[in-house]
Amino acid sequence: MPIPSGSNILAPDPSPKGWGENAPLVDRFGRSVNYVRFSVTDRCDFRCVYCMSERMTFLPRAKVLTLEELATLGRAFVELGVRKIRITGGEPLVRQNVLWLLQQLGRLRDHGLAELVLTTNGSQLERMAAELKAAGVARINISLDSLDPERFRRITRVGELDTVLRGIRSAQAAGFQRLKLNAVILKGRNHDEVAALARFAIENGLDISYIEEMPLGAMGDHDRAELYYSSDAIRADLARVFTLTPTTESSGGPSRYYRVSGTDSRIGFISPHSHNFCGDCNRVRVSAEGRLLLCLGQEHSVDLRHVLRAHPGDHERLKQAIVTSMDIKPRGHNFQLGGQPVILRYMSHTGG
Ligand code: SAM
Ligand code: SF4
Repeated sequence: MPIPSGSNILAPDPSPKGWGENAPLVDRFGRSVNYVRFSVTDRCDFRCVYCMSERMTFLPRAKVLTLEELATLGRAFVELGVRKIRITGGEPLVRQNVLWLLQQLGRLRDHGLAELVLTTNGSQLERMAAELKAAGVARINISLDSLDPERFRRITRVGELDTVLRGIRSAQAAGFQRLKLNAVILKGRNHDEVAALARFAIENGLDISYIEEMPLGAMGDHDRAELYYSSDAIRADLARVFTLTPTTESSGGPSRYYRVSGTDSRIGFISPHSHNFCGDCNRVRVSAEGRLLLCLGQEHSVDLRHVLRAHPGDHERLKQAIVTSMDIKPRGHNFQLGGQPVILRYMSHTGG
């Protein structure tokens, strides 16, 4: 049964049974897709050295999906059995009226959506945390690569560490449980802070995931092979200070988790190079311009913006385009450390 459209398109349905019951999103390799990430803008108030070049050209507004189009897409994905939506970017919280979108998507929880979650750089959390909670955001991931203000500034090129730390406190005060930090670790830039970041997480009741840099977009800042710091190296650094116990816990994403003895915190590793996570991939992404990307590290995609704009209101056609896309979801990514990046689009377009 489709979610009713019209003025109350996302109003709660008293009998949500049947939603996504047939789980039609299964790819050629038998993987069920139940998780989608929306990049709601390619713009950002930071310019992290691993994500953007110093001088970025952003998409013209007409090419970016409208908030209404994103709400329609959310509805279609949930009708197709998607249980988790992550809102990301670019920096999602610099998109004007993003709260409206979150409220619309939040209502899909009455129709089968289990979790609406958000990834942010934290710069806007101080002013927005309470509203995000009210909109129905269940969990937030916050990027934090350094606890040293100058280093934080060098990595983000423009970011203020204090603003982000205040944002984290505001999110906790607004009632968000188990906030998770994301730290991209680069050799020679912040690899010596691995244990300090974990300690900060533990002392503040947070989880943390360490991420190996992925070769997305042409950055010009550094040679990615030279700055590569593996998850195994990070884990070895942590094992000198903490006792880590592997767990099978999952947050539905690519992190492999460990528990830190004597604490509530989980430590995760996202390791595209050293521990390929493609085998149990359950997710797809929608880029800021409405490309349904079937794999972070490949170009296979379907132009959903075209479907939305060429056939406005044709919800079944939109859903069919999503279902058919499963035929081209590739087996896995093709990231290589050396040489030129294979994928020229930036993480901020793609939605990390
Ligand atoms: N602006 C938000 C933020 O920074 O959290 C959301 C978008 S950002 C693209 C999402 C995540 O992707 C962040 O945790 C960021 O550190 C990560 N990221 C960006 N570029 C990356 C890259 N080249 N390799 C690995 N992770 C990357
Ligand atoms: Fe912006 Fe996030 Fe990319 Fe940093 S990682 S430049 S905060 S989108």
